Amino acid sequence: MELKDYYRSFGIDDDIYEYGKKIEDKLNERFREIEGISEINQMKVITAFKENKVSVDCFNTATGYGYDDHGRDILEKVYSDIFHTEDALVRPFIACGTHALNIALSGNLRPGDEILAPAGGPYDTLEEVIGIRPSKGSLAEYHITYSQVDLLEDYSFDYDKIKKSINNKTKLVMIQRSKGYASRPSFTIARIEELIKFIKNIKNDLIVMVDNCYGEFVELKEPSDVGADLVVGSLIKNPGGGISPLGGYICGKKKYVENAAYRLFAPGLGKEVGASLEVLRPFYQGLFLAPSVAASALKGAIFAAHCFEGMGYECIPKAGDYRTDIIQAITLKSEVCLKAFCKGIQGSSPVDGFVTPEPWDMPGYDSKVIMAAGAFIQGSSIELSADGPLREPYNVYFQGGLTYPHAKLGILKAMQEIKATMNNTL
Ligand SMILES: *Cc1c(COP(=O)(O)O)cnc(C)c1O
Repeated sequence: MELKDYYRSFGIDDDIYEYGKKIEDKLNERFREIEGISEINQMKVITAFKENKVSVDCFNTATGYGYDDHGRDILEKVYSDIFHTEDALVRPFIACGTHALNIALSGNLRPGDEILAPAGGPYDTLEEVIGIRPSKGSLAEYHITYSQVDLLEDYSFDYDKIKKSINNKTKLVMIQRSKGYASRPSFTIARIEELIKFIKNIKNDLIVMVDNCYGEFVELKEPSDVGADLVVGSLIKNPGGGISPLGGYICGKKKYVENAAYRLFAPGLGKEVGASLEVLRPFYQGLFLAPSVAASALKGAIFAAHCFEGMGYECIPKAGDYRTDIIQAITLKSEVCLKAFCKGIQGSSPVDGFVTPEPWDMPGYDSKVIMAAGAFIQGSSIELSADGPLREPYNVYFQGGLTYPHAKLGILKAMQEIKATMNNTL
């Protein structure tokens, strides 16, 4: 069978296949740039492995309390080297990105302290952590307050308001690199650097925490290279390379990482405990693959943006924009298109490729969400996936793809499903 026949067997019409091919032919140069960044990040990772003498011994684990879990301690050194931080906490006990952010926040804040979000609201699930939406055990219940400065209309930082919002209670500044379910652009490392400089100039001892979800290995630098005191993310996103079965990381200044570890485990115990059991090899292997996997996902995102912009849909970021994360939002404008897009992604998946996704009330989100994910690891969004809340303007958030050919197939299939709902006219 020829390539086109395989696409046909997936129900993809020749005109969609040809449309995709034409777009792909124009992306050679862009893809080479991405590979260039990925190559440098790959070097950064291998160097850290080598300098920390990673060996097969590191894949063995302690049991019980997990004292002297050698492989775990070396892995945390490897993360510290890659992120250029004093310390790191990389554990399977961190259930997801929200959990990692929660322990970084609650470990470092005390009653009477205030959090400042200087660049708009946080990711949906953080609203309950902070208590923006009331929730049991939120930081608000512990008398930790929250203040937010929104972006200006042109998405620039509102420096005047930020300055006015920093007071003697302000303890921690929270910046989210990726846009999450918002319609703003994600913040590049250069913009994060500018914001951190401004804030530290006003109050130098603030803890700056960056939610780095989906950003790892997309640029040459990470937020910790430009002044962030804590960077936090999920191992079922970029740094897990599609191999980590769970987990999260917190990299940063030693005392802040320690505070987070005291919260994750118990005061006094901290990083000393926690046997890693069977996850060390996949943590290492996933991190090794991560720069290359992030590049595949990025190529998929760029391909998707070019395809959908060409059909008249608004894309955030725009097809030609510089990228700092792997997320591609596409404004689909209607519920039927959103469902069709997700159906296409699901239908091209290696796992559960035969099912149709339906919207549901996901814990932590305030409107129904539809998710397409035929993933090896549940909820793993470094694998090809698409999701979106069922609310105006019906944005789909498309991300991941462990391999570029899979991402491409998913996008063509999504276009095909949209074409089918629109009575065969695109
Ligand atoms: C994914 C994500 C999180 C955390 O999500 P989990 O589903 O808890 O892993 C937090 N912030 C951003 C920007 C994210 O993309």
